Amino acid sequence: MLAAFLGRRGDEIELYERRSDPRAGNTVGGRSINLALSTRGIHALAQLGLADAVLEHAIPMRGRMIHDRSGALHFSPYDRDPNKCINSIGRGALNTVVIEAAQRYPNVQVKFNHRCVDVDLDLPGAAIVNTETNESSIVRAEAILGVDGAFSAVRRAMQRTDRFEYSQSYLAHGYKELTIPPTADGGWRMEKHALHIWPRKSFMMIALPNPDGSFTCTLFWEFEGPRSFSTVHSDDEVRRFFNEEFPDAVPLMPALLDDFRENPTGSLVTVRCAPWHYQDKVALVGDAAHAVVPFYGQGMNAAFEDCVVLDECLTEFPHDRGRAFAEYFVRRKANADALADLAVQNFIEMRDKTASRAFRVKKKLDHTLEGLLPGVYLPLYAMVTFTRIPYKEAAERARRQDRFVYSGLLAIVVLFLFILIALAFG
Ligand SMILES: Cc1cc2nc3c(=O)[nH]c(=O)nc-3n(C[C@H](O)[C@H](O)[C@H](O)COP(=O)(O)OP(=O)(O)OC[C@H]3O[C@@H](n4cnc5c(N)ncnc54)[C@H](O)[C@@H]3O)c2cc1C
Repeated sequence: MLAAFLGRRGDEIELYERRSDPRAGNTVGGRSINLALSTRGIHALAQLGLADAVLEHAIPMRGRMIHDRSGALHFSPYDRDPNKCINSIGRGALNTVVIEAAQRYPNVQVKFNHRCVDVDLDLPGAAIVNTETNESSIVRAEAILGVDGAFSAVRRAMQRTDRFEYSQSYLAHGYKELTIPPTADGGWRMEKHALHIWPRKSFMMIALPNPDGSFTCTLFWEFEGPRSFSTVHSDDEVRRFFNEEFPDAVPLMPALLDDFRENPTGSLVTVRCAPWHYQDKVALVGDAAHAVVPFYGQGMNAAFEDCVVLDECLTEFPHDRGRAFAEYFVRRKANADALADLAVQNFIEMRDKTASRAFRVKKKLDHTLEGLLPGVYLPLYAMVTFTRIPYKEAAERARRQDRFVYSGLLAIVVLFLFILIALAFG
């Protein structure tokens, strides 16, 4: 996406991607096949005229479908407006649309099977290895943009500079992808327009629909502990665990045992660093700058929003790239930090609170207040997912709203008690 934004500006762009061309059908199995795309990501795509082309391949999800242990289902809409939904999109379809958009600019060259192994920040230049021929070369540029994900090679070079701040923290949970295949006639075995959640307090499974009738399920579970990825190995153990915890899902997962054995167990990292740029020569975008855990469904949306903000800053300071990079960092850093916190908090909400009646009541109260106080009260989830209010502002506003609502409710209860006492002794 960033190559498309920069290509539109007229810059000469060379994009080096270590993987092969995904359009040739080379997908990475067992690794987050689909994602939830929402307002921020759609806005970024729309800037490039790509939103409709992407949404054509997406499945709208209108709310959470909670599966309890007995198999009973509870639907909780994401918003009071049923048209507001998040969109399940396959990485393959999304990648194809954005790569083709970038390649439409003759000034953008995309080179697959090229891995960046190091960066000379001052030159600036990148050491690139062609993974098909094993040839190495140094590619020099006016500026290098590190869009190479949570384990960024570009960021690694910046970590060697003085006073560069860096931290990474892993969740105790890992994730494994599993599949619910389509029915024989290509239909969906569960409600298609929902994000399915099996909340089980300390762990959970979720499932997002795919256009081919399948669902991609992700089990988030502790790596270690008495009942964890480390204690369940044999087919019998896997079957027993799933029968106990997700009995309604088991009959829908004929390849469960194979998927569990063969798909990798991924880890979940939060990365924070500062600054995101080195002079006017190097900058970091997306997960390279701020990887977050996936529980708000915002990592990609935030990365796309980075592209929009960086493009705006380059427009505002056309003759001073250093200033544009610095301004981009200032505008995004606090928001990325806020999102990192929100994403961890939402894990607790999804795996634990969504199962409770209190959660459903709180969501209904949120939607009622939103209806009663239009433009004044906006639930946090709606601000993060359905608006472009900066993440930090959304988190602060939600805290203020909660204080206001809970102190208001407390005041009503106290008043009510006061009236009762007055009537009783009156
Ligand atoms: C289980 C899971 C579920 C998720 N669900 C959602 C969701 O629902 N919604 C959402 O918005 N986000 C979600 N995310 C987050 C999302 O995947 C990331 O935030 C997003 O992909 C970040 O994009 P990026 O381009 O910065 O990095 P990446 O997507 O990691 O892309 C980096 C690219 O750089 C390439 N690369 C890496 N190193 C090198 C190198 N040395 N040389 C050359 N190329 C290199 C990689 O091959 C890759 O193509 C999820 C993440 C996970 C793990």
